[in-house]
Amino acid sequence: MKRDKAVILGAGIAGLVAARVLAEHFKSVVIIDKDEKIGSMQPRSGVAQGAHLHVLLKRGQEILREFFPDIEKIFAEGRCPKIDWAKDTLWESNTGVFPRYASETITYSFSRPFLEGVLHSLVSKIPNVRFVKAPIEKLSELEGDIIVLAGGQNFPCNRFLGLDLEDGTTHLPIQITYRSVVYEASSLNFADFKQYYYQLAPPLDNVGAVICPIENGHAIATIVEYGPPLSIKTDFAGFRDKAALVPGGMFYKILSNGKPLTGVSVFHKAGMYMRRPQRISNFPENVFCIGDIFCSLNPVFGQGMTGALIQAKLLSELLKSERLSSKSFHQKSANQLRLPYLLSKFGSQVKADFFYFYLKLFLLRCQKSRSLHKKFLGVLHLKKSYASLADGKSLVAAFVKTMWRTGD
Ligand SMILES: Cc1cc2nc3c(=O)[nH]c(=O)nc-3n(C[C@H](O)[C@H](O)[C@H](O)COP(=O)(O)OP(=O)(O)OC[C@H]3O[C@@H](n4cnc5c(N)ncnc54)[C@H](O)[C@@H]3O)c2cc1C
Repeated sequence: MKRDKAVILGAGIAGLVAARVLAEHFKSVVIIDKDEKIGSMQPRSGVAQGAHLHVLLKRGQEILREFFPDIEKIFAEGRCPKIDWAKDTLWESNTGVFPRYASETITYSFSRPFLEGVLHSLVSKIPNVRFVKAPIEKLSELEGDIIVLAGGQNFPCNRFLGLDLEDGTTHLPIQITYRSVVYEASSLNFADFKQYYYQLAPPLDNVGAVICPIENGHAIATIVEYGPPLSIKTDFAGFRDKAALVPGGMFYKILSNGKPLTGVSVFHKAGMYMRRPQRISNFPENVFCIGDIFCSLNPVFGQGMTGALIQAKLLSELLKSERLSSKSFHQKSANQLRLPYLLSKFGSQVKADFFYFYLKLFLLRCQKSRSLHKKFLGVLHLKKSYASLADGKSLVAAFVKTMWRTGD
């Protein structure tokens, strides 16, 4: 039997997919957002990071297909390119290039506003889901059998709930700046590849870059830089100057005759976190945190939206088994997001520990071995656990490095 009413705060990726899940179990689902441009397929102020590269990992795409079986047809109709992460991707770093071969890691590529627009239109067609435009400031403004918070990374959770969630929260500094411009894809100098990555490797390489084709014959070029946001230039000349700093010169070459379709968007992210409401004794039993409000990661591994989808699938499973409690949902979410969190930590260079050395050495070995690279893509796309990265040579070398570092 369906329960009465579910309320969702936030109509970003997490809120929209949560609405699809809850609509199966509640007579009425209300989804509230303060931003009037939701679903507009345009970058919008409620999701300031939306103008930047947003890849959806293979695991995320598979979960989306479970909830919206026609979604890949919609991607194809929207001229979203299909990318093989090995064959179609030139992926460089300061130590070499990853191998190119036909892999199983193939995903559709699109902008964040496009994905949100598609999801918004699909969710709008569900008869028992209703959208409301309103800024919500306090939990007491919401009434429902369950309340899902999906307000994103800047949502003032403590003030909203009247609780201090800090005890259960892990914070890590990142200090990363994204600069992005959308180009006409046909004006770019791609050779025999469709997607380009230059991988950051601080402290030596603090600048990385990506060019990724997206819907409607467009491509998004993003420069990613570690460091405090001292002099963020937002003009096109500043973007080109930064592009020239991306090591190897390939990024600059691809863009050299490029026709820009937008100005330069800039976003600085100072830190990442994982909240643990399950550890807060007076956390309300009918409130569920999903998406960035629960866990906001270093974006370099493109895991945030997939993390929200993993939580939505978990919500669906717990509702079906009738074992849904806010505590178990948050505990299981934390367990399932452990791998993305570890990868994010690695990407943020917080501490040169064993895992850090191991992954660095493993990535080096991936450049020479298709089979290792295949495993890496499986883990990167959250399809396989990190145990599948076990490799004897990397283990020994990382152990030696860690011991050497300990005695340093
Ligand atoms: C620079 C950058 C690049 C990224 N790249 C990737 C990537 O490549 N791949 C990937 O998967 N992830 C990426 N991410 C992460 C991704 O953006 C997030 O994980 C994802 O957007 C989380 O979705 P969400 O629905 O939780 O939050 P959001 O998308 O932020 O949505 C929150 C919603 O809540 C609404 N809202 C907020 N406050 C209120 C209020 N008081 N009342 C009513 N409504 C409210 C907002 O208007 C908004 O619609 C990136 C992040 C950054 C910063």
